[in-house]
Amino acid sequence: MTSTVYYTDMTTKADRNLLEKTRKAAKKAGITACIEKNDLVAIKLHFGEPGNLAFTPPPLLRVITDMVRERGGKPFLTDANTLYRGKRRNAVDHIETAIKNGFTYETVGAPVIIADGLIGADYVNVEIGGKHFDTVKISSAVHQADSIIAVSHVKGHELFGFGGALKNLGMGCGSPSGKQTMHSDMVPKVDPEKCIACGTCIKYCPEDAISRVENNKAFINEELCIGCGECVAFCPVEAIPINWKTDEAAIQEKTAEYAYGVIKPKQGKTGFINYVMNVTPDCDCAPWNDIPIVSNLGILASTDPISVDQASLDIINQAPVISNSVLGKKNEPADADKFRAVHKKNTGYILDHGEFLGMGSRKHELKTFWMKQSKTVK
Ligand code: SF4
Ligand code: SF4
Repeated sequence: MTSTVYYTDMTTKADRNLLEKTRKAAKKAGITACIEKNDLVAIKLHFGEPGNLAFTPPPLLRVITDMVRERGGKPFLTDANTLYRGKRRNAVDHIETAIKNGFTYETVGAPVIIADGLIGADYVNVEIGGKHFDTVKISSAVHQADSIIAVSHVKGHELFGFGGALKNLGMGCGSPSGKQTMHSDMVPKVDPEKCIACGTCIKYCPEDAISRVENNKAFINEELCIGCGECVAFCPVEAIPINWKTDEAAIQEKTAEYAYGVIKPKQGKTGFINYVMNVTPDCDCAPWNDIPIVSNLGILASTDPISVDQASLDIINQAPVISNSVLGKKNEPADADKFRAVHKKNTGYILDHGEFLGMGSRKHELKTFWMKQSKTVK
């Protein structure tokens, strides 16, 4: 199977600014063609951690929400709460962060809805029968939407090497407890020094694996624990530490399985737009953004999430390095796998496993438009 990815570079003219280029890319790829009247359309993005300015600019999202409305759909911008305790850990902080970063109704023309609710407890178990998971915990608003358009900022990531459409869908649409299970096959432990005996973990444990011991503090019975991560996600004082210990291939494959859980119930109702702009070494979860490793390279759109990520990687790997970036200082060969050079991670596990699951194909035809020199590359 060979998919088609539409690509335009960053060259602009009066009638070809980045807003017009976004519209054209989305239209050519048929991103909104599947949307029917009154469809609820989740537009999945990353609102950026405060202090990070590399996320996709809100006016570009406005183009997509306008296109959805032209089809009669009802768009909303969405992301799920984080596992770590930054400024997107609950819906209140998350929405305030989105507003601070410019994602207001006035700017983007759609409401912001945090996909897994106030505290990350709203999710649906979706059966996938994967290598790692039989079911995955997909945020309710994403699952209940009729259609999803993933708008992804392509950048580096310390665990994945890079983040694109698959990471945006997989890690980005999982509940916080799901995120914990993607990060680690853990058996959590309570730190009695930090435990305030609130009982929240007991309330959320599905296996009754937690009991009260001395001073009413919590204790986890390892024999009963299934490693679901709920207690880690809901402890209000981090007395059950997040386990970040991970296997490079496993986290990527697990994330691909979560991405599969997002799109499996929405066959033919999905679309993917990747912005290869501000290609920072680190994720938008970081409250900073270092110098990009390559210049702004363009916009890619497809109905295949594997192809759009593979094409984005190819374009980045073919581009010259920015000399004063973290990569410029490493003296890597011009054709080096740039994200592997930055993070020492193999970026291929997530794409291979996504392909294995039947989500798409790494083989693609790149159709260019509105370039300095248009060409078709196989
Ligand atoms: S990981 Fe899940 S099963 Fe284990 S103690 Fe925590 S909530 Fe209970
Ligand atoms: S949720 Fe945290 S603080 Fe509350 S009882 Fe459980 S471990 Fe202790």
